[in-house]
Amino acid sequence: MTTIQRLDAALAAHIEKVEHYKQVQTLLAWDARTGAPRKGAPYAARAKATLAGELFKLQTDADFGSRLEDAAQQEDLDELSKRIIAEHWKTYKRWSAIPVEEYQAFVQQQGLANAAWLEARAANDFSIFAPHLKQIFDASLKFAGYWGYEQHAYDPLVQQFDPDLDKVTLDRIFSELKSALIPLIRRVTSSAKQPDTSIFTHPFPLEQQRQLGIELLQAIRYDFDAGQFGATVHPFSSAINPYDARLAAKFVENDVRVSLWSALHEGGHSLYTQNIDPNLIHTGLGIFTSYGIHESQSIFFEKFIGRHKGFWDNNYFILQKIKPETFGHVSLDDFYFALNAVKPTFNRFEADELTYNLHLIIRYELEQAIIAGEVDYEGLPEAWNDKYEEYLGIRPPTHLEGILQDGHWSAGFGLFPSYTLGFVYAAQIHQVIRRELPDYDHLIESDHIETITGWLTTHIHQFGKSRSADELIKSITGKSIDTAPLIHYLTDKYEQLYEL
Ligand code: ZN
Repeated sequence: MTTIQRLDAALAAHIEKVEHYKQVQTLLAWDARTGAPRKGAPYAARAKATLAGELFKLQTDADFGSRLEDAAQQEDLDELSKRIIAEHWKTYKRWSAIPVEEYQAFVQQQGLANAAWLEARAANDFSIFAPHLKQIFDASLKFAGYWGYEQHAYDPLVQQFDPDLDKVTLDRIFSELKSALIPLIRRVTSSAKQPDTSIFTHPFPLEQQRQLGIELLQAIRYDFDAGQFGATVHPFSSAINPYDARLAAKFVENDVRVSLWSALHEGGHSLYTQNIDPNLIHTGLGIFTSYGIHESQSIFFEKFIGRHKGFWDNNYFILQKIKPETFGHVSLDDFYFALNAVKPTFNRFEADELTYNLHLIIRYELEQAIIAGEVDYEGLPEAWNDKYEEYLGIRPPTHLEGILQDGHWSAGFGLFPSYTLGFVYAAQIHQVIRRELPDYDHLIESDHIETITGWLTTHIHQFGKSRSADELIKSITGKSIDTAPLIHYLTDKYEQLYEL
């Protein structure tokens, strides 16, 4: 891949400036979530608001807009430059469509909504959060109106995160998954064969969990010289550029699974970032192409590598070495079965891979019900609980374990589908990779994960945002998003494990 050569110098400089602002924003967000002092938070928030305002001005600058428009007319433009221009033009159009004072008010509302959500959690009282949620969702729908849509107001909202998806496609995907997963979960949970998961809840000192995280990240070849491994309350990764791809795991003393999965999952996100072509840095394309594809890579490492028996053939000794009193006498088979236990939970974050998607489908369906006016904000917590009962057979005893568990809605509509899309994409990719690397199992068993990562880099990672999600998935699988490989994978795996 070549560097941008044909772009006008002033245009290239403006683009780079935009990217520098975004880089600083990402760094501040990392800082806020990994140890910035609590007392400094209001001042950091003011600095962030100033930065966000300046970035908004840069991205919607009229002169920048006309330069982009002129550049798009240039006939001798190379493919990469065209993509760079198209990306910034899209952002320009998106943000210019919103009156600046409405945008600023929305950013402020998001901050207040997040604070109200924390307060509502502390009091276990949804009514504290409800008016903020209404404000945020009303503003989101107003923005959708500014952006315009052909079929559904949800389309431009979900397209902020997954540009190639729309409500019609999501409805289809989620209904296919629901009809396959709900009966499968019932069969699995009523099987006579059940694992013993108590090994995971023995106290596991946090410092040793950190060591476990480091060794698992080494096992998937995360480059510590181009990243950082931190601790946080809600695991995340910071995609700054290929040379700065950080991740933060969560450490819980009485459940080592939380840090184990968060290291592998966030490690997968970060490997994607580390393998993007460095020539794309500061062009706007040196980042993941969509939330769904980003999630597909974390899920690939968490599930298709981290839940592969061969991976634990090589790495179970780490747990046995760090915690011999708990794992020393547990066989690999028993450990593996326990690691893949299926048990409906109230909390999305603790969900196993079989029930996980239902947590997201529930959130998506509630978003649709709000937009359609089928549920009001007062009735939302009960609607939430009803869905949990219907799909997972459990009813959250409090709103803390129900609707107040995640804060995503204080940012707006449309973020939840990406988590499931990621799993669907990852299973599609996994099916092809097994065909193209027939020794896939052996590669994992013999600790040659870098060959698999190399394949992912060639077909996905290197391109960053220079190819769309749909382009990537079509070039790999020959078709668009498709739930069949995921349903096949989950059915096969759990029928075997649970001897159904
Ligand atoms: Zn993720």
